Amino acid sequence: MALTALISVSDKTGILEFAQALHGLGVRLLSTGGTAKLLADAGLPVTEVAELTGFPEMLDGRVKTLHPKVHGGLLARRDVPAHMAALAQHGIGTIDLLVVNLYPFEATVAKPGCTLEDAIENIDIGGPAMVRSAAKNWKDVGVLTDASQYGEALAELKAEGQLSRKTKFAFSVAAFNRISQYDGAISDYLSGLQEDGTHALFPAQSNGRFVKLQDLRYGENPHQQAAFYRDLYPAPGSLVSAKQLQGKELSYNNIADADAAWECVKGFDTPACVIVKHANPCGVAIGKDAHEAYSKAFKTDPTSAFGGIIAFNRPLDRAAAEAISRQFVEVLMAPGYAPEALEVFKSRVNVRVLEIALPPGGKSAWEQGRNAVDVKRVGSGLLMQTADNRELTLDELKVVTKKQPTPQQLQDLLFAWKVAKYVKSNAIVFCADGMTMGVGAGQMSRLDSARIASIKAQHANLSLQGTAVASDAFFPFRDGLDVVVDAGASCVIQPGGSMRDQEVIDAADERGVAMVFSGVRHFRH
Ligand code: 5GP
Repeated sequence: MALTALISVSDKTGILEFAQALHGLGVRLLSTGGTAKLLADAGLPVTEVAELTGFPEMLDGRVKTLHPKVHGGLLARRDVPAHMAALAQHGIGTIDLLVVNLYPFEATVAKPGCTLEDAIENIDIGGPAMVRSAAKNWKDVGVLTDASQYGEALAELKAEGQLSRKTKFAFSVAAFNRISQYDGAISDYLSGLQEDGTHALFPAQSNGRFVKLQDLRYGENPHQQAAFYRDLYPAPGSLVSAKQLQGKELSYNNIADADAAWECVKGFDTPACVIVKHANPCGVAIGKDAHEAYSKAFKTDPTSAFGGIIAFNRPLDRAAAEAISRQFVEVLMAPGYAPEALEVFKSRVNVRVLEIALPPGGKSAWEQGRNAVDVKRVGSGLLMQTADNRELTLDELKVVTKKQPTPQQLQDLLFAWKVAKYVKSNAIVFCADGMTMGVGAGQMSRLDSARIASIKAQHANLSLQGTAVASDAFFPFRDGLDVVVDAGASCVIQPGGSMRDQEVIDAADERGVAMVFSGVRHFRH
């Protein structure tokens, strides 16, 4: 008995040749408006679905094939007599082959300037319904959802007169995969929007928004399993775009620390170097070039820099590479490497060398190379917040003491502030001449962070006399200020906003140091 094929495709690539071949094999052709016209124009005998159903296509094509004459023909089980009797009773013929590809939803929403209305009109309704009917009844219907399947189907039809059970099952699975992908794209797109078509910062649902980059050997500890994912649409210049040029496979902790280092270093306009250990910078400096920045950053805390993650915002030359290669490095990151610099690391096969482009630059988180939203797991939930991409400018600083900071001190304060933003709270950062001199990180008490920062400076044989110091949040009492001034600080930057601001300002005046308020807090947990 002759087979019947229903063909309804948006992407008409290869369809004419396929339909001609089907016709050559004696297959009866049914088709929808646009597809039917294409086939008829080429001289093929084709019955329009509208003729079959007795209903015209209506509502701008929203309703074409949603009819029992179509779905009955697709869904009836040929091995169930009652099904076949029902078809006979209602004058419905079986459909053996379904060839459908869907309205181009994904391509439509990928176009710049696509409106919500355009997107909605490109949600196919009848196509997926037919595909599901055919795929469900896979034992009796062959369903083709991609032009790449035409050749294989034809070869089998020519050889056997029908599709094999194996092929029909494989086509059914491919069809359901396609529908799931299609619905996923619609769900993802709409979840990211509000009803007026504008972008929703925090989507109603967050499914399928990450793509797996690689499995990791283990997680934060060897008994934990882990994998690395990227955003569906990563920001340019973000860590996930890094290219590994040499070295061992990246570990979970390498990636976490590399992110901390990269986030910090890319915030500087001048050549800078950031050395990170356990998610905290243990040395940050700017210099006339990468080499100088590195030498200064290393001096902050040579002990901690051992086995560190080192990031640069400038390409590395041979001199910088040679200086770095004298220390044990876990990961190196830079926007580029001179060939001679790469040569230096060739013999150090374990050093992971990453090349990563700087983000384009601008005010938004995206332009700064990160997603607009930060995500943190809590229990079975997620915390989401906009990224902390608040930059401070000189004119925002408010001097609150009798003593005015010098222009050089203001520069040092801004530098210290920039670094403090990337140090885990409570953060206290001493700086001088564009380098960190003592970093106190992650303590439960601000006083302890201040004490640790000055102890670290002593260990590194650095004098804190005349340094600038930043505190990521306000001093709740004068004691914290006293500790940093005792250590040698001559100027201080902090957000202000404490109930006891006046007590702290009076203390600064009493100690003869300059203090500025930033008006911004940078907790980092
Ligand atoms: P044609 O170009 O043949 O006029 O239309 C083909 C497209 O219409 C295919 O992408 C197919 O999935 C889609 N289609 C088929 N039936 C229906 C229906 O009843 N409603 C909608 N919205 N689309 C359909």
